[in-house]
Parts: sequence; structure tokens; C-alpha cells
Amino acid sequence: MEEYEIKKVSVVIPVYNEEESLPHLYRALNEVLQTLPYRYEVIFIDDGSKDGSLRILEELHQKDPAVVVVSFRRNFGQTAALSAGFHYATGDVIITMDADLQNDPTDIPKLVEKARYYDIVSGWRKNRKDPFLTRKLPSRVANYLISFVTGVRLHDYGCTLKAYRKEVIKNIKLYGEMHRFIPAIASWVGATVCEVETTHHPRRFGSSKYGLSRTIRVLLDLITVKFLQSFSTRPIHAFGPPGLFMTGGGFLIALYLTYRKLLFNESIGGRPLLLLSVLLMILGVELVVMGLLGEMLTRVYHESQDKPIFVVKKILRID
Ligand code: UDP
Ligand code: MG
Repeated sequence: MEEYEIKKVSVVIPVYNEEESLPHLYRALNEVLQTLPYRYEVIFIDDGSKDGSLRILEELHQKDPAVVVVSFRRNFGQTAALSAGFHYATGDVIITMDADLQNDPTDIPKLVEKARYYDIVSGWRKNRKDPFLTRKLPSRVANYLISFVTGVRLHDYGCTLKAYRKEVIKNIKLYGEMHRFIPAIASWVGATVCEVETTHHPRRFGSSKYGLSRTIRVLLDLITVKFLQSFSTRPIHAFGPPGLFMTGGGFLIALYLTYRKLLFNESIGGRPLLLLSVLLMILGVELVVMGLLGEMLTRVYHESQDKPIFVVKKILRID
């Protein structure tokens, strides 16, 4: 197995109204990071907090040069905060975690060591300390569904405590609330993924920023991710087959009705079958056209930024 050299570790932490947790978090982090045989930085992203979080972060930065603070103009969400963290991180390995003390900094060394051999190390809150009905149950279903659909089997997609290698994460663009899908997206372009068990604590201060409505958003994100994985460079193959099938079906029905009308002089004007035939043909043509539009979008996307449709790991060549 290839071993990866680590010189510096970046810890990325999104913060949204977590003033009470921050001092505890910083103390615990400091204790762990100082024992690591690598240089390190801690990047806090203040996601437009309305409490005293930013002031506390600024104080930490004044005291400790290893603390980097990125402050958003308004609340952009956890995914945007993580994405900013990846952007500004300078470490070879990037650890992400929550600010609310639910993740345990003492797990960091374990993740970093694993990251010498894997591109992504995903935490698994095996003994999760969240309410069962509103959090653990939907999460269990979501993890099963995401694993099944993406083919990347993980127990805990939602755990923020993860480690990423710089090369892998810097090439992944995040939108919406897609951060939980990074292991799947990365694995599709050839990244290696492993899972380690991590400790989890109940929230001590403040309250969770999410409710049950997140389940629906995760489901929609899953559809997007899956669609992009399978068809982003060939959308006509997604829309084309059902489109042709429907147009063809509608056409055959229309032929049959015409035949009845011409040969037996039946009245077909009021038949539900006629409605179905017309509907199928219109929808079918529409789907094919949608696929063609998709093909044009794909070309605009790739050609306007010279973006290749492949990912290279290494090139061996004598110039
Ligand atoms: N968070 C953020 N922006 C937001 C919502 C949350 O930066 O809009 C941060 C939050 O401060 C915490 C982490 O993301 O550090 C996870 O949030 P939370 O603990 O509310 O989620 P849960 O653990 O309940 O899933
Ligand atoms: Mg939390």
C-alpha cells in the first residue's frame, strides 16, 4: 500500500452560534494537536454567527498563531463553511469536525494515521448520542440509502469528523448541502475510502441547527449526486431511452387507432387511448429534447473551462 507523507495537518471547523463550546473545544484540541508529530493549523470558519463566537475566535487567533479565522458576511451554511476551510487549508491532511463538542478531538491522531494510507478517512459514530426518533432513525435510513445508491458503503455519512488528503479534496466542488457526499463523489474518481469508529457526545451547549426537514434535502441531494455521477457527460442517455420508448409507444397506439378508424370507421375521438397516445408522444419528444439540451450544457460546462472528462493520477513520460 502506498504511503503518503504528512508534514502538516489542518483542522477545519465550521462555527455557527457556538460561543459556549468554543473555549472548551479549543482547549481539548490544543492538547491533542500538540502531541502530533506534525505542524498544524486550526481553521475556524465563522458562518455569520449572531452571538459572541467571532469575538472569541478573534481572541484565540491573537493568542495562538496556529488559529486561522475565516469570517463569513452572513450565514452561508455548513457546506459553504467547510468548502471555505478546504480552500484556505495548507495542510497535507485536512480534518473536519463540528464546533459543538459532539466530536472528540482525541480521535484526530487515529484519523491522521489512517490518512497516510487512505485518501478519505470517515468517522463512524458507532455509539451516537443523539435523539433516536428525530436523528438516529432518519440517519440510519439515509446511510443505508446513500450506500445502496452510490455503491460506497459507509455506516455514517453524516459524521463531520473525517480526514481528507489535500489532493483529493481540493478538486471537489461542493454545492447545496453536499458535504456528506464527499466520500462517494471522491470514490467515483478513484479515491480510497475507509471508516474508523469515533467517539460521540451529546450536545452540551446551544442547540442543533437542523431539524427533520434535512432528511428531504438529503434525499434530493442524493438524486442530484447519482444523476451527475452516471450521466453528467452523457445526459441524453438518461433522458433518451424513456423518451424514445414513450414516443414509440404513443406512435404505435396512434397507428392502431388510425387503423380502427379507417378500416372499421369507428369513432376514436372519445377514447382514453387517444389521450394516452398523444400524451406519450408529447412527453417522449420533450424528454429527448431535454437530453439534447443536457448534451449542450455538458459541452458548455467542460469546454468553457477546459475541464477534462477524466481524472489523472500520474503520468509517466519522457519528454
Ligand atoms: N454550522 C454552520 N453553519 C450552519 C449550521 C451549522 O457552520 O448554518 C456548524 C455548527 O456550528 C456545528 C456544525 O456545523 O459546528 C454542525 O451543526 P449541528 O451541531 O447543528 O448539526 P448536528 O450535529 O445536529 O447534525
Ligand atoms: Mg452537532
